[in-house]
Amino acid sequence: MPVPKNRSTSVRKIHVRVPKRGHVLHFKRRLKGKTQSCALCGSQLPGVARRKTPNRKYGGNLCTACSSRVLTTRSRLSAGSITLSDVDVKIQKYVK
Ligand SMILES: [Zn+2]
Repeated sequence: MPVPKNRSTSVRKIHVRVPKRGHVLHFKRRLKGKTQSCALCGSQLPGVARRKTPNRKYGGNLCTACSSRVLTTRSRLSAGSITLSDVDVKIQKYVK
């Protein structure tokens, strides 16, 4: 019987052939999948982890805080209250 830490399903059992003894079991932890992260601030995007991308602008790319910041900047640019040189360099890609 394997030790308790190796009885989990997140541990892979690998049969390794060895001389004379036939085979032995090796245990290897499975890699966890990486979740998507926001392109601007790097926080995790929870909607994408569930395989359902949020159905809004920049859904799956930006978090809610960053997307609202981009949309606000975009509307201010279109209104003419600010110019493109006033906008943060990171955001400029999304505002154009
Ligand atoms: Zn963000």
